[in-house]
Amino acid sequence: MSDHLETLFEFLRFPSVSTDSAHAGDVKACADWIDTKLTAIGLSSEIHPTSGHPVVIARNAHKEGRPTVLIYGHYDVQPADPLELWSSPPFEPEVRDGVLFARGATDNKGQMLAHILGVGETMAEDGDLPVNIILLFEGEEEIGSPNLEPFLEAHKTELACDIVAVSDTGMVAPGVPTFTYGLRGIACLEVKVTGPSADLHSGVWGGAVANPASAIARLAASLHDAEGKVAIPGFYDKVEDLETWEREAWNTLSSDEETLDLTGSPCLVGEPGYTEVERRWARPTAEINGIGSGYQGEGSKTIVPSEAHLKISFRLVPNQDPDEILGLAEEHLKTQPLKGITLEIERGHSGKAYVMDPHGKWGKAAQVALAQTFPKNIALIREGGSIPIIQSFKEVLGVDTLLLGLALPDCQIHSPDENFPVENFEAGIRLNRALLLELAKA
Ligand SMILES: [Zn+2]
Repeated sequence: MSDHLETLFEFLRFPSVSTDSAHAGDVKACADWIDTKLTAIGLSSEIHPTSGHPVVIARNAHKEGRPTVLIYGHYDVQPADPLELWSSPPFEPEVRDGVLFARGATDNKGQMLAHILGVGETMAEDGDLPVNIILLFEGEEEIGSPNLEPFLEAHKTELACDIVAVSDTGMVAPGVPTFTYGLRGIACLEVKVTGPSADLHSGVWGGAVANPASAIARLAASLHDAEGKVAIPGFYDKVEDLETWEREAWNTLSSDEETLDLTGSPCLVGEPGYTEVERRWARPTAEINGIGSGYQGEGSKTIVPSEAHLKISFRLVPNQDPDEILGLAEEHLKTQPLKGITLEIERGHSGKAYVMDPHGKWGKAAQVALAQTFPKNIALIREGGSIPIIQSFKEVLGVDTLLLGLALPDCQIHSPDENFPVENFEAGIRLNRALLLELAKA
C-alpha cells in the first residue's frame, strides 16, 4: 500500500461521528491526529476548543507579497448506521477494485487529506509553499457547523485571506474536472396543525369536526400549482435569470435519461420552461421532507386524528433572502382557507445561496489546476445542495470559495458503503499541488 493510502486508512479508522456524544472522545482523538500530521509536515498547528468539537488551524510562516489561501475541510463524519448494509465494517477501511470503502472516505476525510498531502509534498520538495496557507478543519460540519461562524467572527484577523478552497462537492462524472461556482441556499419550516383535543372516533364525530390530516394535506398541496411552480405569492420576485452561457454549458452535462436512471423515478417533473438540470441547480424549490398524522399501523383504525405535522424545506437561489422567503411562506400557509384547526409554524435552519464568477482570476487559476490534473474538458456547474459555511466565508471574511470537488455521483456519501476511488484521492493530491502554484501566479 502507498504511504498516502496508509495515512488515509489511519484517518478513516477514527469513528469521528459528531452527532453522537458517545463518540466525542473519538472526534477529539481525530483532531489530535490531524494536529500531529500538520506539525509533522512543518506547519504550525493549533487545536482550538469550542463549546462543541474542536477546530484545528495550521499555517506556514506568512510572507508579504504572496496571496493567502485558506483551505477548509471537516474531519467529522455521519453515523454509519444501518451497519448491516455495509459490505465491510465502516471504520475498517478496505480497498476493493481500486475503490476505498469506509465512512468518511469521500465526505470529507479523503478529500481533506488530499489537501494536506498536497501541501505536505510541496513543502517537502520546495522547502516552502508558493502561497501563505491557512488550513482550517472543523469537527461539526455534519451537524450544521454550529460553532464555526462565531469562530470565524472571533478569529477574523488571523483568518484574513484572499481566497478559500474547499473539496467537499462532486465531479459530474469520472475523470471530468468539475468546478462548482454556485450552491443553492436553504430555509426550513415545521408546521403543526391541531384539531380536537384527542384522536376521536371517526364514526361518532367525523363530519362535524375538522380533520388535521386533511388540513395538512391541503397545506402541503397549496405549495405548488398544477404545473409544478411554487405557488407562494412573491416567491420568485427576486430570482435572477440564468445566464445564456450557463444554460448552454449545463445542458451537455446532464440528461433526462441519466437523471431518470440515477433516481429510479418513472418520469421527470418540475417548473415549466427549465431543463431538469436547471431546476436542480439554479431554480428555487419547495419540498415536503416529511408529513405525518393519524394511525400508521397495520389494518385500519377509524379515527379523526388530533394533530398533523409537515416538514418543509426551500432551496434558494442568489438574491432570495431566507428570512424573507420564510415570511412569505408563513403568510401563504396562514391565509389558506382552513377552519376548525390551530396552525403553529416554527422556523428551522437557513442559509443563503452562493454564487461566484468562475471567470475571475481565482476561478481561472483553479481551472488551470483542474485541467492539469484531469484529461477531460472542465465542467462548470452549480450544485443544488447547500454548504452554508461557504456563504459565511463570504460574509465574515469577505472572500470567495473555490469548490474543487472530487466525489463521484455513486460515492454513497451519508449512506452505507461510502466509497472513494483511490485514483480520485491521488488526483486530489496532484490537484492541490497544482492549485497552490496557480493561485500564487494569479
Ligand atoms: Zn456530509
